[in-house]
Amino acid sequence: MSATACIYQVAVPTPLQRTFDYLAAPEMATLTPGTRVRVSFGRREMVGVIMGQSDRSELPRERLKPIGRALDAQPVLAPSLLNLLIWASDYYHHPIGEVIHTALPVRLREGAAAVIVGMKFWTLTSKGQALDRESLKRAPAQKRIFEALAAAPQGLDAAQLAAISPRWGAAIKALQAKEWVSSHQRESQLFSNAGPTRAPELYPAQQSAIAAITQELAGFHPYLLHGVTGSGKTEVYLGVIDRVLAQGKQALVLVPEIGLTPQVVDRFTRRFPVPVVVLHSGLNDQERLNAWLAARDGRARIVIGTRSAVFAPLKHPGLIVVDEEHDASYKQQDGFRYSARDVALMRASREAVPIVLGSATPSLESLKRAREGGYTLLELPDRTGGAGMPEVRLLDMRRLKPSDGLSLPLREAIAARLQRQEQSLLFLNRRGFAPVWMCHDCGWLAPCRRCDAQLTLHQKRGKLLCHHCGAEQEITARCPTCQGENLHPLGEGTERVEGALEKFFPQARIVRIDRDSTRRKGALEEKLQRVHAGDADILVGTQMLSKGHDFPNVTLVGILNADQGLYGADFRSGERLFQMIMQVSGRAGRADKPGEVLIQTWHPDHPVFAALQRHDFHGFADFALTERSETGYPPYSHLALLRAESPRPGMALKFLADARALGLGLPPAPVVQILEPAPAPMERRAGRYRAQLLVQSPARAPLHGFLGRWLAQLAEAPLAKKVRWSLDVDPLDMY
Ligand code: ADP
Ligand code: ZN
Ligand code: ZN
Repeated sequence: MSATACIYQVAVPTPLQRTFDYLAAPEMATLTPGTRVRVSFGRREMVGVIMGQSDRSELPRERLKPIGRALDAQPVLAPSLLNLLIWASDYYHHPIGEVIHTALPVRLREGAAAVIVGMKFWTLTSKGQALDRESLKRAPAQKRIFEALAAAPQGLDAAQLAAISPRWGAAIKALQAKEWVSSHQRESQLFSNAGPTRAPELYPAQQSAIAAITQELAGFHPYLLHGVTGSGKTEVYLGVIDRVLAQGKQALVLVPEIGLTPQVVDRFTRRFPVPVVVLHSGLNDQERLNAWLAARDGRARIVIGTRSAVFAPLKHPGLIVVDEEHDASYKQQDGFRYSARDVALMRASREAVPIVLGSATPSLESLKRAREGGYTLLELPDRTGGAGMPEVRLLDMRRLKPSDGLSLPLREAIAARLQRQEQSLLFLNRRGFAPVWMCHDCGWLAPCRRCDAQLTLHQKRGKLLCHHCGAEQEITARCPTCQGENLHPLGEGTERVEGALEKFFPQARIVRIDRDSTRRKGALEEKLQRVHAGDADILVGTQMLSKGHDFPNVTLVGILNADQGLYGADFRSGERLFQMIMQVSGRAGRADKPGEVLIQTWHPDHPVFAALQRHDFHGFADFALTERSETGYPPYSHLALLRAESPRPGMALKFLADARALGLGLPPAPVVQILEPAPAPMERRAGRYRAQLLVQSPARAPLHGFLGRWLAQLAEAPLAKKVRWSLDVDPLDMY
């Protein structure tokens, strides 16, 4: 390089869709793309990432600022990952600096060195090992921690202990004081499992699925593995991973947010004698960095994580698995709105590795692609262990009078389970006591002051809460409109159903699982543990219950308000309803204890229910795909949604109208349709007026070409700086 300093393009986390030019100091060694640097940006110091190099800039040299210093001797992001991020930035039209920021562990974003730092962990002492556990009976937190340590000879770290008990800090101190537990430091949380479990004898359908996938492990091959819950999909992943590990490669396994349970992780860690890292929200920043580095350096052979793990670096990528590929948690709903499933597909294609998308209820997008031959469709038709699918019965609510949301046949079915000492599970997608607090004299409904929505009564907390903005109000005893005192709750939430169950079945042990009852750290695990240990007869909860957990002793599933999904505002609500019920159906009953699913509905003739009764996913998909092709919604078109909001009424809509006019003024992209802007289904939320504009196209390429040109103009629109706006490519939620 010449004596003149060279110019680098640096990505910094700002909302601007571009990189920025900086000068390298003459004595600085060449900086490779992917290397972090400290730069001053405006008045702030920032951590940026080198994207490229050049000898000219749009700005005169003397106006360019120098790079402060390089933070890495080796780039933290390998070219393959960096290129994937560049692709994602283009595809989602999101600033590259912010995209890179999302992909890096917090410690690296802050500028910390990319090195593993020792971690503290705890083990039992020999004195502790000789201890009789019963002596801890009076200290339940200590007892739980102690038992967990006894089961983990390699020790447990802070994050693992915190998952066992929220009071782990005090408990571990007490145990240490008694010299039953001691603490140690180690380089990282990596350890290999010394005693791997054996795979079961596989069923023919599993064998052929594994054979199909492993027949050619080099190159990009997408597979859609369809099989009901409990049909043995996880065993197929494990079988394929086994072959991938044998080739010296790594496997990346993505699971939905709620599916990252200890049971799931255990199956992967127990099977193979290799180090596994789990990227979950319980990790602190250093632990996350350690895990990230272990994946990058190839020491972690299996990497399991939720959405953002799709950006985990891998030294020797060999396979990507996306479990429950239809799950909504794969889509980030704010900021950088990417779909981890779709990014995973692009990543697999660029890294030339196979990818397995698994689901009991594949998304219609994936199913259509598989039917057209884009993915290889693999089917696991039966549940393992000879279990059949449960019988699905519809309870026609036009004829049945529910009491607190529970119809008589449903109550009788619960009573029968109680008698047989089996468990029942009731679903209701609404937390709180009642969704409405109403004056029976004049019809007044308690509204949220900041949203176009009613307040939900939370009786136990003694409050009225808004589920959209979090606002909290006292329960009004007197109607503000007519001054009457005839106020009553209307409709049912989980809290009310729980109360009703207590009344109908005073002897039953009832566990409620929803966001309110599991707010405390560790509460969800505690409740699930109770259910698994058989310390519960009836579970009632929201969709938190429908995923990731197996309840082998549950033989009755009741769906209380199925109809909400039938005619929802969103074109995907029917698909979601089908997925939810199908997912739970797969969890009810076993070979020796057949299950039953009861659905309370006012629309028993709806075709979604007929397909559910036959457990006929493909039948449902035929019907739903026909509907989509008639209405022109995905997967028969591609969508982008421009959202805007403002505290001032009308501003968001005005901005979108201007945006539409700008779009129509561009060189015409004939197939791209810009629809009229419309207020969001709930227009006012948290004091802001929201509106949206849908852009639709039968093909992806013209849509993305258009979006690029359009966004460049939008930033210049008169109201662009006065309203908050964002673009959502492939939106999942339409409100
Ligand atoms: P899915 O991932 O489709 O829900 P799993 O792989 O978890 O299904 O299998 C469901 C249950 O059946 C698990 O308890 C698993 O251990 C067991 N299982 C899976 N395959 C077999 C097999 N071939 N033989 C015996 N048990 C199996
Ligand atoms: Zn009134
Ligand atoms: Zn509100």
